[in-house]
Parts: sequence; structure tokens; C-alpha cells
Amino acid sequence: MIDTPGMRELGIVSADLDKSSSDIEEFAQRCKFSDYRHENESKCAVREAIENGLIDIDRLESYKKLQK
Ligand SMILES: [Zn+2]
Repeated sequence: MIDTPGMRELGIVSADLDKSSSDIEEFAQRCKFSDYRHENESKCAVREAIENGLIDIDRLESYKKLQK
């Protein structure tokens, strides 16, 4: 699947929600912090993935909701 910003705006992301937590979880497991916030820690694997465009910030928000 080709992931472009244009497709995101068309709502493809919502169809993608089911797997969203699992790929974040992959990064979260690599992260040395396990508080599930992944907000301001340097060397946070999840932040790094977001900065590299590997995961969407919205996905992190959904993921954090699931942790509660
Ligand atoms: Zn983290």
C-alpha cells in the first residue's frame, strides 16, 4: 500500500486503525522507557519513529488511549 499524505486526508488512516497500535507497540518495545507516554524522552524509540515519519503522531495518541 502506498502511504501518502493525500491518502491520509482521504480517510485511509481510519481504515488502518486496527494495525496502528501494533506497529507502535513494536517501537515501544524497543524504547527503553516503559511508561507509555513517549513524549519528551530523548532516545525514545517511539519519538524517533514519529520524527522519521515511520508512525503518525495521531497513532501515538490512539496508542496512549489504549494503554489507559
Ligand atoms: Zn518511548
